[in-house]
Parts: sequence; structure tokens; C-alpha cells
Amino acid sequence: MTESILTDSTLTLPGGTWPTLEPGWVWLCGAGPGDPGLMTLHAINALRQADAIVYDALVSPLILEWARPDAEQIYAGKRGGKPSAKQADISLQLVDLARAGKRVLRLKGGDPFVFGRGGEEAQTLIQHGVNVRIVPGISAGIGGLAYAGIPVTHRDVNQSVTFVTGHDQRGETPDTLDWDALNRASGVLVIYMGMKHAPTIQKGLLDAGRPKDEPVAVVSQATTPNQQVLETTLGAMVDDIAANHMEPPAIICIGRSVLMRQVLDWQALARGEAPRNLDPLGRGKPAEER
Ligand code: SAH
Repeated sequence: MTESILTDSTLTLPGGTWPTLEPGWVWLCGAGPGDPGLMTLHAINALRQADAIVYDALVSPLILEWARPDAEQIYAGKRGGKPSAKQADISLQLVDLARAGKRVLRLKGGDPFVFGRGGEEAQTLIQHGVNVRIVPGISAGIGGLAYAGIPVTHRDVNQSVTFVTGHDQRGETPDTLDWDALNRASGVLVIYMGMKHAPTIQKGLLDAGRPKDEPVAVVSQATTPNQQVLETTLGAMVDDIAANHMEPPAIICIGRSVLMRQVLDWQALARGEAPRNLDPLGRGKPAEER
């Protein structure tokens, strides 16, 4: 049943009015973290209409199956051994496609405005007089962690969460990251693009006074059939990432909310495993009692 829904490109959208992707417009759209079921209805509506789809490496082929069969599919990714497209080239290509009167869908992994350069692309388009619509998506740092059974906020753990990028524009760890401030800012840090610079991230946080035994989860290819989850600690994360052959794309989550996976790993429960620990934070009373 599930299979047929995922592959059925004739699935109709629920009743109501859906926006029309007009010729000469660009819709900048999030495709979610991987599982096609995490796309929005606006994303599907866009895929149904677009003549040209410019997509990133993180957009799964299953999602592109929802495109019109005659749509032009243009890869603008920066991974997988293919030559990397320059950001300015991608933005200007979108301008050109729009000016050629195409109905353009710019499809990005996760949410287009979360570490996705969607803001820059939209700005370029608007500076060139091109009309845009923004379609948000489920970001990997929220939805990907949820698929691993990790709530990005949890009342007993954190009142704030900090999203961090582990890369800057040159692919280096951002010099601008203030680890002391990040350490103080919140109980939970969610790090995108952190794999390459995991040792720097680890050292920065340990030097800032974060405990070595702070729980850490690394979730790679979240929400896809290849999802892998590593539970470790801040002190052990770099060795464990290597030992477990964890590869990007991955989200690194640092904080005690990771412990909640011991009870909330719903994918393990669905496979018939028992919860590892019904009270991983040691509250000593049922969750519904405050
Ligand atoms: N706009 C995207 C993020 C783009 S930056 C979003 O909102 O999710 C690319 C980084 O996102 C990757 O390096 C990785 O840290 C994270 N990421 C994206 N998809 C992922 C997935 N399916 N599993 C784990 N991490 C993912």
C-alpha cells in the first residue's frame, strides 16, 4: 500500500486551490531530508508543473520521480564526484531559465533557507527582477533527528536549540564560530555539515567546558532506507565516527535529548524491539506527570 502511494505520480492533491507555477517564475522549494513522504503538498504541486527542475545532490531520485516526465532535470549538486557548480552560476542559470519563460523549480534538500543558500539564490533572482515563491521543507536537523527518535527540544532538557554549520563557504570550519558562546547558548547543538571538521568541533566544545560524557548522536542519510544512527559521547565521537564508517550527509546532535532515543527509537520499536529504557532522563515518574 505504502509502495503504491510513493510511486504513484498520478496521486491527486486534496481539494482546494493550489498555486500555479507561472512561466518565468522560480519556486525555491525544500524537498525534505530524503523520505518522499516528508515533502510538502506545495512541493508536489511544484513538481507536477515545472518545465525545468534544478536540483541538489541531497534531493533523492525518488523525489524526482514525481516530476513531469518531460521536465528538464538539471543537476546542480556539489557532491558525488561530479564537478561542483559555482553558486553564482547556479543562481544565474535560474535567472536564464526564468527569462526563457520556463516554469522553474529549484529543489533543495531539507529546507531551502536552512544552510541551503536559498536566501542568496532568491536574492539574486529578485535583484534580476524574477518572481519567486518560497516553499519551506522539513530540515534534516529537525526531521532527520525525529526519524532517529531524538526530539530536538524536550522540556526536561532544553529551552533552546542552536543550529550550527560545520563548514563555511570555503569548506573550512568557520573561524567565526565562538565555541564558548555556543556552549553557553543551549543544551542542544545541532550541527549540519560537521563530519569533515568533527575533530575541530569536538575540541572546540571540550575546550569550552562541555563534558566529555555529553551524549552525542550522529545520524547519516536520515529518513532514507540507508539511515544510520551512532550514539556516542562528545569525548568519543571522532573515534566512533571513524570506527563505524559514518559518512556525510549526517547531522551531529550534541546534548542530553539524545538520551531520549533510548525510549523513542520508534523505528526499532516498529521492528519489534523493546524500548531500551523507559525513563532515560531518570525523572522517576511518568512523562505525563510534571
Ligand atoms: N537545507 C538542508 C541542509 C543543507 S546543508 C536542510 O534544511 O536540511 C547539507 C547538510 O545537511 C549535510 O551536510 C547534513 O549535515 C545535513 N543533511 C541534509 N540531509 C540529510 C540527511 N538526509 N541526513 C543527515 N543529514 C542531512
